[in-house]
Amino acid sequence: MRIGIIGAGIAGLAAAVRMACRGYEVDVFEANDYPGGKLSEFTLEGYRFDAGPSLFTMPHYVDELFRLAGENPRDHFHYERLPTVCHYFWEDQTRLLAHADAQAFAREVEQQLGVPGERVLQSLADSQMKYEANGRIFLEKSLHRLDTWFDSQVAKAMLKIPRYDLFRSMNAVNKKLVQHPKLVQLFNRFATYNGSNPYRAPGLLTIIPHFEHSIGAFYPAGGMYNITQQIYQLALRLGVRFHFNQPVDRIRVHNGQAIGLQVAGQEYPFDRIISNMDIFFTYQRLLPDQRQPKRILRQEKSTSALIFYWGIKKEFAELGLHNILFSDDYRREFELLQQGTITDDPTVYINITSKYSPEDAPPGGENWFTMINAPFEAGQDWDALISRVREQAQAKISRILGTPITEHIACEAILDPRTIQSRTSSHLGSLYGTASNKPMAAFLRHPNFSRRIDNLYFCGGSAHPGGGIPLCLLSAKIVDDVMP
Ligand SMILES: Cc1cc2nc3c(=O)[nH]c(=O)nc-3n(C[C@H](O)[C@H](O)[C@H](O)COP(=O)(O)OP(=O)(O)OC[C@H]3O[C@@H](n4cnc5c(N)ncnc54)[C@H](O)[C@@H]3O)c2cc1C
Repeated sequence: MRIGIIGAGIAGLAAAVRMACRGYEVDVFEANDYPGGKLSEFTLEGYRFDAGPSLFTMPHYVDELFRLAGENPRDHFHYERLPTVCHYFWEDQTRLLAHADAQAFAREVEQQLGVPGERVLQSLADSQMKYEANGRIFLEKSLHRLDTWFDSQVAKAMLKIPRYDLFRSMNAVNKKLVQHPKLVQLFNRFATYNGSNPYRAPGLLTIIPHFEHSIGAFYPAGGMYNITQQIYQLALRLGVRFHFNQPVDRIRVHNGQAIGLQVAGQEYPFDRIISNMDIFFTYQRLLPDQRQPKRILRQEKSTSALIFYWGIKKEFAELGLHNILFSDDYRREFELLQQGTITDDPTVYINITSKYSPEDAPPGGENWFTMINAPFEAGQDWDALISRVREQAQAKISRILGTPITEHIACEAILDPRTIQSRTSSHLGSLYGTASNKPMAAFLRHPNFSRRIDNLYFCGGSAHPGGGIPLCLLSAKIVDDVMP
């Protein structure tokens, strides 16, 4: 059986490993000259940066790939659980450490916000209940096959639908559970984990804190890019062939069956094709003559991001690996994103891997991945927006940390929605495929197989179950499940 895979993003790599484990012959075509897609890295003036994802959750889905191949993951890939998940800051100098230990987190909330810690524990318990009752089932299964719906576990989960808060917003659920405005903001921010808006997204998304707080947030030894590297190396050991700098031009279809790929004018026959390319561009560019699933392709995109990679010449003891400096008006921030622009007072996320991997920055320095939520690409004047937001973000960081930050920036690189789109063919620069802003949106992503073209499969952030590393790994697992 010969398998052709389009794209070596994290989902494409995982699919390649799974297909090779079946004993199939696997070829991966990748447009870039490196594996990993968004999960890549670069170095600037002695500072190493993870270019995309910074938060690692559900590491067992990576381990599973090694085990499937008969290897011990610990012989290759190491990670540690973070004792502190995130450092939170507000303009009024409130600071809060989100400890991994739920009791310690609850005590911290009592001390810093004067709120009964019980509320945090209840919110985390609600999150766990939703995940156990339905999250796991719907994330790990194809929703587009009849046998899924005849499964007794799925039937039980369906009966509990009224408890999933599908028809109340995430903000409404959080307001009821934790009440204090700063705590509501903190729990609302989990909507950004799939590029959604907490004031519109269903309360179902309150399952997300369970991933980070109860299952855990982790740091992979060597940084996030090591996830890519280790899965890539595993695929090579299994005999997968990679073709870099080889953008696929067409999926060849004959009599309703995918029969091969066209790459740089050459035709490659395959028995099955898996596309890890964004769904929108897979149809638009690789299947222009086929019937398009218009409703799916019109779905609202997830938000994008503006990232300033700053080499910093100073160390900041009050910052940790993950840091969030909140805006004063979170609702307004999302309203403006919806309108295609960025607020004057954006929430700023700073990730600093040199806290865990000191070799990522020169001695006495830190590597700051500074991210601001941005709307998807719609022809905005990005250069003007970037220069305004850079100034406002630096002013905010300086105010909150009490140190003028600009003078400590040694070097800078930028990623914006335009470059996210052009580097990985992600439609409109969205980070996570489609948004989950409508009650049923999480269930309406593109299936992991084509309904019209036999032998054609889909994995990655724009297909079911969605974006983010764990879900992308699951999309490859579902392809493995549904492929005969
Ligand atoms: C700035 C940023 C921060 C993020 N933060 C997090 C985080 O903290 N945690 C988290 O879990 N997730 C995070 N994400 C989301 C996560 O990175 C993605 O969901 C995930 O990496 C997507 O993987 P993928 O396999 O779907 O596709 P991609 O990484 O988009 O890879 C697709 C690959 O296909 C290739 N390709 C496209 N078209 C063709 C073609 N025609 N021929 C050949 N190759 C082609 C592309 O070059 C690319 O390599 C973040 C994303 C970004 C950009």
